Amino acid sequence: MGSIALATATKNFRNASRLLGLDKKLEMSLLTPLREIKVECTIPKDDGSLVSHIGFRVQHDNARGPMKGGIRYHPKVDLDEVNALAQLMTWKTAVMDLPYGGAKGGIGCTPKDLTLSELERLTRVFTQKLHDLIGTNIDIPAPDMGTNSQTMAWIFDEYSKFHGYSPTCVTGKPLELGGSLGRDSATGHGVVISMEALLNEHGKSIKDSTFVIQGYGNVGSWVARLIYEKGGTIVALSDVTGAIKNPNGIDISELDKHRKKGALCYFNGGERMIPDELLFQQCDVLIPCALGGVINSENAGDIKAKFIIEAANHPTEPEADDILSERGVIILPDLYANAGGVTVSYFEWVQNTQGFMWEEEMVNRYLIQYMKQAFKDIKAKCHTHNCSLRMGAFTLGVERVARATLLRGWEA
Ligand code: GLU
Repeated sequence: MGSIALATATKNFRNASRLLGLDKKLEMSLLTPLREIKVECTIPKDDGSLVSHIGFRVQHDNARGPMKGGIRYHPKVDLDEVNALAQLMTWKTAVMDLPYGGAKGGIGCTPKDLTLSELERLTRVFTQKLHDLIGTNIDIPAPDMGTNSQTMAWIFDEYSKFHGYSPTCVTGKPLELGGSLGRDSATGHGVVISMEALLNEHGKSIKDSTFVIQGYGNVGSWVARLIYEKGGTIVALSDVTGAIKNPNGIDISELDKHRKKGALCYFNGGERMIPDELLFQQCDVLIPCALGGVINSENAGDIKAKFIIEAANHPTEPEADDILSERGVIILPDLYANAGGVTVSYFEWVQNTQGFMWEEEMVNRYLIQYMKQAFKDIKAKCHTHNCSLRMGAFTLGVERVARATLLRGWEA
């Protein structure tokens, strides 16, 4: 799984490097992670027995600033996957022109099998092993799959025991501890802003389009809510419990009420369907919001959507990219589509540094500004290199990092 993700990220990077005509030494240096950390985290479970998990942090590149990226708790986390995701963070922060490099971390575990106190112990042990290697000028973690603002609060607290009060050591914190208004919805919000920019360019709008959304975690649920508020018709949805469809549109406010007491697949505002069929539903826009690698050479030919918005990281494998582009399907790449989260993380970090909290309106105004500017920058690269949006985003990100690297120089 992780090795496919790494091969995909590397292939896209090499294609961008070829378009940019980068020299081989620079290409190798940009590709190779700055540091890979692997730590053993043993904790006592609530029943007194001991359990060990492996934690990773890959710090990919810091040419443009301190490294930045989430920490994910998921059973499929492995070093290759974290490596791929760290690399994607380097290009993502550069695409958004944030003063950061890229990193990613994770612990191979199943969070729902751990109690809250076990999760807290695991997070604190992980932080104890990492604390010398992260921090505001080095590497700033944030939430990702399986982690949330509570996880960040524990990291902040544990880190502060070693280094003194340090709210800028982590983003995605609870509001009470220096979190930013709008951070929780930021990735979903960014997905919707970026998608609107693309649809508008093609003379379409959210209101007159139909959507299929895969995944109903933090990102998927916010995307669904925001599309629903804007009058879009969501014809099918899925989460880990199953999938539902309704050609007349799923009522998201009713679904959210239902989910307080029941699983998504038992919602009576839609018909239950086989999750494997979700990707093949008739719709204008398909939005994968879950794991990577879900669109591959086996299923790409059956996808009916005209647009794919990559809210998840690396959901499309390169062979599927080719099949879809031959069929005229337009893909808005992850590097840009899901960058709203890290962008508002940056605003949180700025607010913590200023010691001044922004109003939500200001956070959202800047988020829209950054997302629109990045779309323009990507389109300019597509024009220069006559390439797809994915290669437009990759060449933009890679070129910015390459320039910073060259300006900083090679002398030891
Ligand atoms: N985990 C998110 C991502 O993959 C956010 C990272 C951050 O805020 O640093 O982009």
